[in-house]
Amino acid sequence: MHLKIAIQKSGRLNEDSVALLKKAGISIPKSLGNLVTEASNFPLTLLFLRDDDIPEYVAEGIADIGIVGENEVLEKRKAIKVVRRLGFSKCRMSLAVPKNEQYEGLAFFHGKKIATSYPNVLDDFLKAKQIEAEIHEIGGSVEIAPTIGSAHAIFDIVSTGSTLISNGLREVEVVLKSEALMVANPYLGERQQQLLEELLFRVEAVHKAETNKYILLNAPNEKLPQIIEMLPGMKSPTVLPLALEGWSSVHTVVPENEFWQRIDQLKQLGAQGILVVPIEKMII
Ligand code: ATP
Ligand code: ZN
Repeated sequence: MHLKIAIQKSGRLNEDSVALLKKAGISIPKSLGNLVTEASNFPLTLLFLRDDDIPEYVAEGIADIGIVGENEVLEKRKAIKVVRRLGFSKCRMSLAVPKNEQYEGLAFFHGKKIATSYPNVLDDFLKAKQIEAEIHEIGGSVEIAPTIGSAHAIFDIVSTGSTLISNGLREVEVVLKSEALMVANPYLGERQQQLLEELLFRVEAVHKAETNKYILLNAPNEKLPQIIEMLPGMKSPTVLPLALEGWSSVHTVVPENEFWQRIDQLKQLGAQGILVVPIEKMII
C-alpha cells in the first residue's frame, strides 16, 4: 500500500514541495500534466491539487498527508494533524487600510467592513480581540476593494508588501505568520503511519544537514580542552594529531546559526586553517 501525498499542482508551494521530496531521495517521474503519479523508488503516490482543496482531501483520507500553507489549514478548519513545519512559502496575513486613513489601533475596525478571502481566519482574530466588524468575503483581488468602495479595509496575504503599496494601502496589523506545513489524516493505518515516519525521518535528516556545517581546523594542543568544550559536535569532535609536533586537527559539526560566533571564538583560541564544508544528509 502506498502513502498518498497531496501537493499543490502549480503555484507558490509546488516547487519547494517537489524539491523537499527529491532531497529526501524520492524520484518523481516528470508528470506531463498528470494529476496523479507514483514515485519510482518509494511507495508514494502524488496527487497534484489546488492548495485550497488539500486540507479537505487529507481530512477525508483521499490523501494520507499533504503539504499546504498554514493560512489554508486555519481557514479550512478541517480535522487534520500538523506533523511538521516546513519553513518555506513564508508569508504573513495582515490587515491593511487606505494609506491616508488615520489609524491608532485595532479599535479602528469597529463597525468597518473588511474584504478578505480568509473569512474564518479573520473571524477568529476579530473574536479574540473583541472587535465587531463586518467580513466581506470575496474570491480574489481583495486589495482593490477599498479603492472601488466595497470595503473600508482588507485582510490578506502579504509577502513583500508591494501589492499593498501599489494599491494605496498600508499594512497596519500582522495577524498571523504562515509557512508550509506537512499535514496528515488523524486516522492513518499502521502501514501509512510507518511510511510517514520514514518520510519524516528523511526530511529531518535533510533539514539537519541544511542547518549544520562540517568544520575542520588545526589547533595548538594546549588549547584543545577549551576548543573541544566549545564544539560538542554530534557526540564529540574527532581529534587527530598533525605531523607537526604540538598541533592537532579537529573535525566537528556546528549549527549554522552559531557559526560566525564560534569561528571568532576559535580564532581567538589559536585555531588556524579552518575549513567549512556543507553536509548532504545528517542522521544523529
Ligand atoms: P491554487 O491554484 O493552488 O489555488 P493559489 O493561487 O491559491 O493556488 P499561491 O499564490 O500559489 O496559491 O499560494 C500558495 C500558498 O503560498 C499560499 O496559500 C501561502 O501559504 C503561500 N504564499 C507565500 N507567499 C505568498 C504570497 N506573496 N502571496 C500568496 N501566497 C503566498
Ligand atoms: Zn489556492
